[in-house]
Amino acid sequence: MDRYRITAGSKFQLAGIDPDETSLFDGGKKEARKVLEEELNPRLEELQDLLYAEGKRRVLIVLQGMDTSGKDGTIRSVFNAVDPLGIRVASFKVPSAEELAHDYLWRVHRQVPGNGEIVIFNRSHYEDVLVVRVHKLVPKNVWSKRFDQINDFERMLAASGTTIVKFFLHISSDEQKARLEERRDTPEKRWKFSLGDLDERKLWDDYQSAYQDVLRRTSTEWAPWYVVPANAKWYRNIVIANILIKTLESLDMKYPPAPKGTETAVIE
Ligand code: ADP
Repeated sequence: MDRYRITAGSKFQLAGIDPDETSLFDGGKKEARKVLEEELNPRLEELQDLLYAEGKRRVLIVLQGMDTSGKDGTIRSVFNAVDPLGIRVASFKVPSAEELAHDYLWRVHRQVPGNGEIVIFNRSHYEDVLVVRVHKLVPKNVWSKRFDQINDFERMLAASGTTIVKFFLHISSDEQKARLEERRDTPEKRWKFSLGDLDERKLWDDYQSAYQDVLRRTSTEWAPWYVVPANAKWYRNIVIANILIKTLESLDMKYPPAPKGTETAVIE
């Protein structure tokens, strides 16, 4: 799974990664779904339970990707067995007037996980160097300083006991087109369709290059980015689940000892 981790720094080329790739799993879609449901989902549930019971560590998962890249679907599929008590999703939309009256990390910092908690960021502070850059919502001399600011912010979170994992769901332009058409043509999905998405689609190349800079400049030891081939939803799900399982296992968590006298307690 380390092959998807971005370590190349300034040499990283997003166009060099194939969104259609499915090479680490031979079994195909049906088998992948079975592995996800029967092995990976339950294992994530166990690890989340341990994290919650231990109550010492915090886990932050960042999900970014182009429109229709599958952020919502990933959350639903990967975490479907996890107890809602220990997990929270924070979605970042167009900032409110109150949010805009503060620094861009203000709304983000208040959503970070506390002890024993997993928080999934559905979009994140990275919007402030993506949509904000592409639409020129602030001048370059403002957004360009944010890469270092974000690295410092994440370094501080990591130093305070937060494990950070960031995923870029990598789809192709053709796949986005197909998914938008499906939204347009399926009555149950039409509510998700927005004409604004078509304007955003025209800016595809600008977004890809903004993403490339994000991946070059903010994949760090303490908060790595993974670029996940995401044209095949089943592959995306098992890659992300596996990376999360490996990350959580590396924390070497233990259930806390029972309170003294538990084993001999008489329950009448
Ligand atoms: P989603 O596409 O995540 O399912 P929405 O359709 O409501 O949800 O889109 C949220 C929108 O908010 C996106 O277009 C995103 O670019 C925008 N957004 C998020 N953060 C910011 C920000 N800091 N500044 C401007 N726009 C933002």
